Parts: sequence; structure tokens; C-alpha cells
Amino acid sequence: MEEAIVLYPTPAIGHLISMIELGKLILTHKPSLSIHILIATAPYSGGSTASYIATVSSTIPSITFHNLPTVTLAPNFAASTPNHETLTFEVIRLNNPNVHQALLSISESYSIQAFIMDFFCSQSLSVTSQLNIPAYYFFTSGATSFAYFLYFPTIHNTTTKSLKELNTTLNIPGVPPMPSSDMPKPLLERTDKAYEYLLNSSLLAPKTAGAIINTFEFLEPKAIKAISDGLCMPDSPSPPIYCIGPLIADRGDGSDSGHECLKWLDSQPSKSVVFLCFGSLGLFSKEQLKEIALGLEISGKRFLWVVRNPPSGQSQNLALSTQHEPDLDSLLPDGFLDRTKERGLVVKSWAPQIAVLSHDSVGGFVTHCGWNSVLEALCAGVPMIAWPLYAEQRSNRVVLVEEIKIALWMHESYSGFMGADEVEKRVRELMDSEEGDSVRKRVLILKEEAKAALSPGGSSHVALAKLFESWKKSQAAF
Ligand code: UDP
Repeated sequence: MEEAIVLYPTPAIGHLISMIELGKLILTHKPSLSIHILIATAPYSGGSTASYIATVSSTIPSITFHNLPTVTLAPNFAASTPNHETLTFEVIRLNNPNVHQALLSISESYSIQAFIMDFFCSQSLSVTSQLNIPAYYFFTSGATSFAYFLYFPTIHNTTTKSLKELNTTLNIPGVPPMPSSDMPKPLLERTDKAYEYLLNSSLLAPKTAGAIINTFEFLEPKAIKAISDGLCMPDSPSPPIYCIGPLIADRGDGSDSGHECLKWLDSQPSKSVVFLCFGSLGLFSKEQLKEIALGLEISGKRFLWVVRNPPSGQSQNLALSTQHEPDLDSLLPDGFLDRTKERGLVVKSWAPQIAVLSHDSVGGFVTHCGWNSVLEALCAGVPMIAWPLYAEQRSNRVVLVEEIKIALWMHESYSGFMGADEVEKRVRELMDSEEGDSVRKRVLILKEEAKAALSPGGSSHVALAKLFESWKKSQAAF
């Protein structure tokens, strides 16, 4: 019987892209395998997953997508939660019978070697253990975040308070200290439904056959060692980890090449443009958009900026509902587009980020610190300004600025608002100061180390070989 691997990403574009890249990486080393990807329907938008999936299906015949039937959320469920994480967990939970069915159907024709699920799909472990299929977590963020996720049950057991009330610094031996307020948003509030789901995912980690992390040894050596040494889960054995990154989307097919912003970048001087883009879900209020515009204008620097409509209703700061094209004239200060037209370009809603970051004219990146964005900037050798918005991005900022030193800190007000003066100051600092030079030099070193990690004999290459070995052992154990 032919052998197959089943991948189960969450339906958010950032998670989906790295899972598909993992599938492509596996195929490069094991071309005889079939890869099956289970796709649950997302209750939110934020970047088109459909066109991405269509491109992958049409270009890689060994990858087959299985669309799971749409599940029905309880009435008002989406409106009752401020977190897209809760929606994701609920969709995954409701999909368990569909996952069961899909695995049975795939196993009629293939011997399933491993089931690799996003950390957010942990509830499917009950299905895979019923079917005796070795299951692995895939953690699409970094090792430091994973270390804190593994440590989270320990924190939970040592206090009855919510993290947002603790006002302390969390310390796992060997891992960069983390202010409790910088932990991922859904972990801050104990009564939050997402808190419970994430706690459960952490507690289930020892029951997996291992965790695959999208990072590499040189990038996060301390966190990787702490997890491997079992320091993050004092009460139970940590799962083996496989750091196989950096995995970023391969857009070598040239599909993005016609985009207007790339043509515009062609006309800009080398390393002169600051790129501002905030992931698949990041949104700003109208007031915040105006401050960014003013900051960019007074900085005098060249910029390329992706602007979306402000959030509406329940969606808070996330693109949880269908986004319409923004009306730039009404959102940005009067005359801004005209006054900056010689040195700035505003793109509506979405830009081909990887192609932009790889363009020679781009010299800096203001990012929401989503892990894919971080790795994409790192692989392109572009230094960053860290402006976290949601999920684990605040802890990513701590790691990027204080540990890896490839980004500058942006100082928001207590409410999270960023004034024009702060935008201006950081943009100039990145492009014109010694601090900016220092993060630029450091990111170029990381760029080379990332290549080395993926090359034969490199740490990620070796970790992948160990992962393949573990499939064999897990199969034998079942
Ligand atoms: N992205 C893009 N264009 C945009 C916004 C986002 O191509 O205008 C891509 C980006 O390159 C990255 C993904 O969407 O691959 C976002 O993933 P990330 O982990 O950075 O953030 P998330 O959206 O998951 O918060």
C-alpha cells in the first residue's frame, strides 16, 4: 500500500501557508509519499486561502486537499468571543467526526505514516489515538513561544489570578524572561474560552509523538535547549521537538510579479523603502491610520504601506469579516496621498509580501510580528520595527528585540495607541541610526544562518531526518 502523511492546518492563511510548506519540504525528501491536507472552513476571512490552495493543487500532484464539510457554530457563538483563536478551536472541535471520517477514507487506499496537526487542532488527538495513527503537533510560531505554551499549565497551577493581573516577569530556566502582560492575548484572561482550549493543547503535548517547530537552532538556541532538556514541563515528559525551519512560502512561480507595488519599487533607490504590513488579520482604527500617515509624512522616508478598512462591530482589531476595499481619501489625512506621491505608495488591503521583502529597494519592515512575517523578513535580510497586534505577537516582539536583536521596539501608549511622533522616530531610527545599522547587520547574519540550517548537514536538515526516523519508530510502537 502507498504511504501517506496527513496534515491538518487551521484555516488561517498564516498557519495554512507554513503547513503547506512543511508538506512540500517532506515531499522534497520523500517524493514517493502522498500528502493529504484536511481543510476546515474558516469562520473568518483575512487573505484568500482559496486561491493559494488552488495554485498548490494545480502545481503539486502529490498534494491532495480534502475539504471538510462546513460545521455550524451555535447561534451567536462568533459574536460572543473577541478571539479568533476561540472560533478556530470551536471549528476544530466540531470537525472531529469529519476528521475521523476523512482519515478512514484515506486509509482505505494509503497507509498513514503520521498525522501532523496544527497546535490549535489538538482536539483531534482523540481521533488519531482511536485510529492508532501517530500524531505530531506543528507549531507555526517560534520555539520561545512554544516553550511558554508548554510552561503555561505550570503557571496556571501556581496562581488563581489571570495573567493580566499578575504584573510579573515569567521565567523558565534558560529561556528569555517574559513580562506576563506580553504573553499571548488569549492566555491573559482566565475566564476566556480560548484560555481553556490552549491550556488543554499544552497539557496534551506529552501525548503527541513530537512537535515540529518552524524555527532553527541558531535563531532560538536557548528555548530549543530548554524544551529539549525538559525544563518547560516540570511535571510531565516534554515531547521530542524537531526544529525544521525557516519554512516560508515559495513564491518562485512569479505569480506576484505583475503587482503595481513591485513596479513602483523598481523605481526606488536600493534599501530606501520602509514597508508597513500587518499580517492577514491586522486592522487599525481610523485615528490610528491617520497617526501612521502623519508619522510617515514627517519622517521624510520612502514607504510602501498596506492599508485596510478599520474594524467594525465585533471584529475589534481583526479582519474577522469580509473586507471591502478601503476608501483611502476618507481614511487618510487630507492631501496626504498627494503630498507623499513622490516617495510613498499606499496599497489597498493586501500586498505580495514575500516579493516585496525580497525586493532590493526595501530597507525596513514595520511588522505586527506574526511569525511568518518575521521569518520572511529574516530570510530576505530586512530589519524590523515591532508593532504587535494580536495572538503571540507581543512575546515575539520581546524575542526579536531583546534576544535575537533584529528589530526595534515601538512604544505604544497604555491603550495600545501609537502616536505619529513614535512612528516617525522609529522609522528614522531604523533607516538612519546606529541602532538601525546594528539590527540590519544582525539580520544579515541570520539570513545566512537560515540558509545554512536548511542545507545538507545544517541543523534543520538533520532535524528533518530525525523526524522521518521517528515516523518509523512510532509506526513500530503502534
Ligand atoms: N501576507 C501577504 N500580504 C499581506 C498580508 C499578509 O502576503 O498584505 C502574508 C505574509 O507574507 C505571511 C502571512 O500573510 O505569509 C501572514 O502570516 P503571519 O504569521 O505573519 O501573520 P498572521 O496573519 O498569521 O497574523
